[in-house]
Amino acid sequence: MTKRSKSFIDINTLVRKNILTLKPYSSARDEFKGEAEVFLDANENPYPSPYNRYPDPLQRSVKAKLAEAKGVDPANIFLGNGSDEAIDLLIRAFCEPYQDSILITDPTYGMYSVCAEVNGVNVQQVVLTPDFDLDLEALPKTFDASTKILFLCSPNNPTGNLLSRDKIMEVLKRFYGLVVIDEAYIDFAKSKSFVHELAKYPHLVVLQTFSKAWGLAGLRLGMCFASPEIIHILNKIKYPYNVNIRTQDLALDALDNAYRKDIWVDEILTQRDKLVKALRSLKIVDKVFHSDANFVLVRVKDAPFTYQYLTDNKIIVRDRSRVTLCYNCIRITVGTPEENDKLIEALKKL
Ligand SMILES: *Cc1c(COP(=O)(O)O)cnc(C)c1O
Repeated sequence: MTKRSKSFIDINTLVRKNILTLKPYSSARDEFKGEAEVFLDANENPYPSPYNRYPDPLQRSVKAKLAEAKGVDPANIFLGNGSDEAIDLLIRAFCEPYQDSILITDPTYGMYSVCAEVNGVNVQQVVLTPDFDLDLEALPKTFDASTKILFLCSPNNPTGNLLSRDKIMEVLKRFYGLVVIDEAYIDFAKSKSFVHELAKYPHLVVLQTFSKAWGLAGLRLGMCFASPEIIHILNKIKYPYNVNIRTQDLALDALDNAYRKDIWVDEILTQRDKLVKALRSLKIVDKVFHSDANFVLVRVKDAPFTYQYLTDNKIIVRDRSRVTLCYNCIRITVGTPEENDKLIEALKKL
């Protein structure tokens, strides 16, 4: 890791050479951007279906609205087929196969290491502290000159807690690869997004998604916020039409009606508190960990048994008992009041 001052972080020195010099595919919709009446440039069927036309490859309307909502510039936004697309593209753009590494915490979301391994990229891991926070002693001992991206998930999956903001700030000051902060659950947390720090840190990337609080997991729409240099690289290597017309339309509608998301978040947080109380009163529960998300990690007497028992009762939770620091833990998503009641009633019988 180079010890240059942060004002010298040049994103282009982190990008793989072949990606930096790549001349991207230029679609019909990329080349013509003005007002026109007759479109005979993309070999589309001319009869309205209404999906006969290709979507806007850069999703300009969605980005304009989103930029306003998030207080950033449209040039700071990349939209993908879920945030999983952004995770994959970041690794492919910045990590040379069989040479470079990503650094992740253990435990965390599984897609970072899967995407790295698919791309032949090495995965370095730093175990979280027993209270599931960043270990600032261990972190610098683990990253090295091959480490191009550090993935931090806050609130973290599967533990549910926010990572300490001060520690993340410290990492941003000390690590000169990309620092990706996955904020998939930020709408449920009482903490400011790192989106507001983008202007200060050219190597900061923030991921958010429409899959959780916004209730649109089925649409597949993920948000990536970063410096215009990083966004430009992602746009170069994405599939030209990665976000379809229906998804763009429904995202605009969701953004116009953000109050719906806010109502859901309020209700889910109320239900989470009730669920936590009910779980804590159960014999089989040893510990319910603090959650800043829409799920809770729960330590029980026997996680594999509890998981099987619930499955037999047609209630599916996530057995996380083989995950680091999560022995005998199951992860439970906050459901509707009826769903949460069914879960508690079933667990009471154990
Ligand atoms: C659910 C989740 C996502 C969302 O991924 P999408 O591809 O946007 O659905 C991203 N990161 C974490 C940590 C998650 O738990």
